[in-house]
Amino acid sequence: MVIDTRKLQSEEDLEPMIEVCDKIHNIPKFENKNHEIKWLWAEEFKHEFPMQEPDFLNDRLKHMSFLTLCNHCEKAPCVRVCPTKATFKREDGIVLMDFHRCIGCRFCMAACPYGSRSFNFRDPRPFIKETNPDFPTRTKGVVEKCNFCAERLAVGKMPACVEASNGALTFGDLDDSESEVRKVLRSNYTIRRKPALGTGPSVFYIV
Ligand code: SF4
Ligand code: SF4
Ligand code: SF4
Repeated sequence: MVIDTRKLQSEEDLEPMIEVCDKIHNIPKFENKNHEIKWLWAEEFKHEFPMQEPDFLNDRLKHMSFLTLCNHCEKAPCVRVCPTKATFKREDGIVLMDFHRCIGCRFCMAACPYGSRSFNFRDPRPFIKETNPDFPTRTKGVVEKCNFCAERLAVGKMPACVEASNGALTFGDLDDSESEVRKVLRSNYTIRRKPALGTGPSVFYIV
């Protein structure tokens, strides 16, 4: 995925994408921030790119909100540490979860250097505004995260956030040199989150 941050200047610009992701994936809304479940959210530059903050960061980037999600890392540490294979990497590179296999040990949360995973400290079901019957709800004690909309890809659709982004997000096959996502990467300067860790994030940011 490539995120063109030049087209997403304010937090309001991110809202339609966050809203649609929350809605279709039955993400609960808790008052208590410690219990928050996040698949797609906004972060400031200093939290998004902590190892890449220059001494004199320009004002636009300093005050911007960056769209944040699981990076579907090439060498995903969450996959390596999961004792039950509830977290696994699909052949196409997407890092998925089988909620039924998750025992809530949270090793994956400790291993993910991006804070991309959330834990259900309580039963999320009463806190879902309007349940989407086409997507599973989760239970207390289970971890969850962005699934790159695997359920939509399976029926030939783009991820919901990409569809709602008005062209700010591009999604596709990084291994295909002719794909749209590779074309965008060829013609723009991009950065990734914490590249020095060697996890190989699959989410790129045009800044
Ligand atoms: S961002 Fe975190 S949860 Fe997502 S694949 Fe990488 S290590 Fe795993
Ligand atoms: S919390 Fe679930 S997904 Fe995470 S490591 Fe444990 S079993 Fe695997
Ligand atoms: S790719 Fe799908 S699951 Fe991931 S943040 Fe976007 S809408 Fe949510």
